[in-house]
Amino acid sequence: MIKNIKGTKDLLPNAMLNILDIERHLNIFMNIHGYGEIRTPIFESTELFSRSVGEHTDIVNKEMYTWVDQNKQSLTLRPEMTASVVRSYIQKQLWKTEPISKFYYIGPSFRRERPQKGRLRQFHQFGIEAIGSPNPEQDAEVISMAYNIYKMFGIDNLEIKINSLGSGNIRKKYGIDLRDSLIKFKNEFNESELIRLEKNPLRILDSKNKKTQKIVNENAPNIFDYISDEDNQHFNDVINILDQLKITYTHDQKLVRGLDYYTKTVFEVTSSNLGAQDALCGGGRYNNLVKELGGENIPAIGFAAGVERLLLAMNLEDNRTIDTDVYIVNIEKQYTAKAMQIADLLRKELGVAVYIDSLRRSIKSQMRHANKMNAKFTIILDLENLKKDKVLIKNMNENKQESILINNIVSYFESE
Ligand code: AMP
Repeated sequence: MIKNIKGTKDLLPNAMLNILDIERHLNIFMNIHGYGEIRTPIFESTELFSRSVGEHTDIVNKEMYTWVDQNKQSLTLRPEMTASVVRSYIQKQLWKTEPISKFYYIGPSFRRERPQKGRLRQFHQFGIEAIGSPNPEQDAEVISMAYNIYKMFGIDNLEIKINSLGSGNIRKKYGIDLRDSLIKFKNEFNESELIRLEKNPLRILDSKNKKTQKIVNENAPNIFDYISDEDNQHFNDVINILDQLKITYTHDQKLVRGLDYYTKTVFEVTSSNLGAQDALCGGGRYNNLVKELGGENIPAIGFAAGVERLLLAMNLEDNRTIDTDVYIVNIEKQYTAKAMQIADLLRKELGVAVYIDSLRRSIKSQMRHANKMNAKFTIILDLENLKKDKVLIKNMNENKQESILINNIVSYFESE
């Protein structure tokens, strides 16, 4: 038997119901904030991710699904979406026609991580990107949108952590000092931590290893001590707006985020409703990325959030049934066309959901199925009624039934 690939999931119709509800709410939420949907391709040239996410990140080093196409071009399934959105923005030179672009996206991303609860190899992300504004109010809007989305979905155990990574070469300067402060503990680090320390020292701050965390907490310098007065002012302006919006957060000076393109504000939303993989959403400013990928010097900020993590945090029943309003009990082959005409009429005229059985099962088992689908009404086509151009309509909640002229079916339901 051919099975799905480890770390991927089939979403059957009843599991999709919750996801579709989430997407519907997100679409409305984004629209009322002035963000429009962008859909970019699922695969891109590999260079896009190595240049934006960063060559020495786990994502680029070991988690990408990459292959060489027939024309010898290296292609990659997107591990995240910011790079693609920025690529598209640059390619279309959108800054020439609009001073600010606000996008949102929902779709699959791919990372070859070790699968566990809340961590998949094909997972789904939604997120926003606001490209064009350098101002703190833009940071505050993005963070408050992340916060309000989780509130909208009823998640209370939220924590927002915020930090600033500064701008210019702060990251580089801090990275050197960080490495110098930790190198004397090199015998305490494992192989991958030593590689991080050498190639991308900031990633050490992300370590989940308790011993490493302790060494880091006691010895690492704070990036916040390195940032410029202007960066500091920007950070204070952002948190000042958040305070006024009554959004609670903690300033976590060790928060760096795993992707290389961040500058200034970075943030993460976690929930204690989740287990080990407690990150719901992460984001930040990436003021240099548009330029680095070949565009103008245009500042931007965004976040990305996991759909599967949101579902876990919401703790929803994932076995919902697909409901119908009307169930047409169809027993005889010769009545099928009539049944389908009635179904089409009701769908077109009243916009109600109508289900027709196509198994020619007994009335009893069709009625059982109608109950399972929470049908409000069943329509039964039987010879006796049809001879008088009528059908039998049963109100399932009130358990009453009536013979109704086929010509009067629409008005019958309108009055019900
Ligand atoms: P990142 O792009 O790493 O900042 O991820 C943004 C969000 O996507 C995280 O906060 C998670 O909610 C979600 N996410 C990232 N990787 C995975 C994964 N492998 N499986 C499920 N969700 C993920």
